[in-house]
Amino acid sequence: MSEKYLSVSDGEKCPVCENSTMKVTAREIKVPHFGQTLLYSSLCRNCGFRQSWQYPLEARSPHRYTLNVSDPSDLTSRVIKSNTASIKIPELGFSLESKMSSDPFITNVEGVLQRAKSATQTLNSWADSKEEKEKIKKLLLDIDRAIEGELPFTLIIEDPLGISTIQATNPKKLKIEEIS
Ligand SMILES: [Zn+2]
Repeated sequence: MSEKYLSVSDGEKCPVCENSTMKVTAREIKVPHFGQTLLYSSLCRNCGFRQSWQYPLEARSPHRYTLNVSDPSDLTSRVIKSNTASIKIPELGFSLESKMSSDPFITNVEGVLQRAKSATQTLNSWADSKEEKEKIKKLLLDIDRAIEGELPFTLIIEDPLGISTIQATNPKKLKIEEIS
């Protein structure tokens, strides 16, 4: 069995004890009969909660994942973003292009919103006009409402290499399309 270490993400929120003490690792392994597979495992340093799941890699074609987030439970959907993917939340005017941020990450929808929030806070420290500051203030309020599950939105991930994925808590709310 050949094994390739891919990425690690630390400080994710634990679904059990709710501390940001989860470490998630991803490895590419070859599983007999299934071929190349991504194996994710997470471990909470605080309470010891463990979880692992697999994602097959054999069919790699460009894909778009569109998740309709309209319920607080949707925020726990798993998001696996490779360095070739871009993320968009049209309702918040947020986008993370693959060119700008090549960091791969494994988190959940709430984690994506937390990243959007810190990116917006950075933007705020650069803003020089009053209008700009007001706009950013409103955006931060919207992001907070989205984190609380009070603002429905759409999360779109496009990956030309088809590695990224969303594992939806409510699979009926996820649309998967092949793109060219
Ligand atoms: Zn924990």
